[in-house]
Amino acid sequence: MLGMLLSATVMLSGCVSMVAAEGGLQTLEQQADGQEQVADAGEMQVPRNVILIIGDGMGVPQVYASVVGAIGNNSAFLRFPYSGFSRTYSRNHYRTDSSAGGTALTTGQKVDNYHVNWGPDSTRYNTIFDDAIAAGMSTGFVVTSSVLDATPASTYGHVPYRKMFDTLSLQMAQCQHSVMIGGGGKYFRPENRKDGLAPLDTLASRGYTVVYSLDSMNRFRGDRLVAFLYDGDPDKAPARGNMLTQGAKKAIAMLNRNENGFALMIEGSQIDWACHNNDTAYLRAELADFEQMLHAVLDFAQRDGHTLVVVTADHETGGVTLPDGNIEQGRNEVKFLWGSHTGCMVPVFAVGPGAHYFSGIQQNTDIPMKIRWLMEL
Ligand SMILES: [Zn+2]
Repeated sequence: MLGMLLSATVMLSGCVSMVAAEGGLQTLEQQADGQEQVADAGEMQVPRNVILIIGDGMGVPQVYASVVGAIGNNSAFLRFPYSGFSRTYSRNHYRTDSSAGGTALTTGQKVDNYHVNWGPDSTRYNTIFDDAIAAGMSTGFVVTSSVLDATPASTYGHVPYRKMFDTLSLQMAQCQHSVMIGGGGKYFRPENRKDGLAPLDTLASRGYTVVYSLDSMNRFRGDRLVAFLYDGDPDKAPARGNMLTQGAKKAIAMLNRNENGFALMIEGSQIDWACHNNDTAYLRAELADFEQMLHAVLDFAQRDGHTLVVVTADHETGGVTLPDGNIEQGRNEVKFLWGSHTGCMVPVFAVGPGAHYFSGIQQNTDIPMKIRWLMEL
């Protein structure tokens, strides 16, 4: 039992030292009981909630393009007191794909590209969302892709190939998330499936209300919600409106009713697609949309005081660089190396109880392990 206080003086160099660190924590907790100074120097609360935010394909240049573009220091990225880096390589590749990247961030395991929460010998890996549910917390996700895309799938699915949409939709219909918001509704109806099954009926029989518009989503007052805001992939920003921000706010409002806390994944899915397309205007619009959502989440976390927010990417896409620009005018030139992922480190931003543990260069797999450890999952 760690109690409600952890000491910020305990530094983790990685999750390999969890057991040792736990022993160290007990020692420091005992010290804190007798020596107020230790506690004063770095005491903090255990986070009750965690919001893991993934900018798909969002490397440091993508973030800086957004920071420069937000004139007057009003970039949401500037609101994070702690930042670090994540090494994104997968089990079998220097360049990860989104399913191995998502798996690393939700399970703490490096897997082969195209695998979702699926290891060697068909091992199914547990996610931080499974652990949160086992601890009596509520969970969910909000994405700007289909709900069956690799990143959302890594919060509920287990498949050896990310495009197994029939299987993933059945797994999603049987999962324990309280709220799921994104596109891809068509995959849940029998006419669009090879197996002729209707996961939509499974969702209904398990007590979910399924809605198809932002208005219906916002009006919903129950405990189990699926919002298919698009039948296929959601539109690009800004054509899709602010579904990401509204979805994030709705999910937080629903999940925050659980006094045991919640774990939520939010993804800016199309930052990646813009970079695959080497489309600067599309990228800027996606980043602006992502920043609007970040401001809303940070406003909540600031009010709440018990929420750990971690923002990172699964990988960088496009080999983006920013050769020139103008700070006063909020302008920069975006150049792309190619239309694929790269193996660069990606940024990590954190705020809230335990946020400082996300500083430094870490493995992508360290992120969920630190979340587990901090939240005693
Ligand atoms: Zn990705």
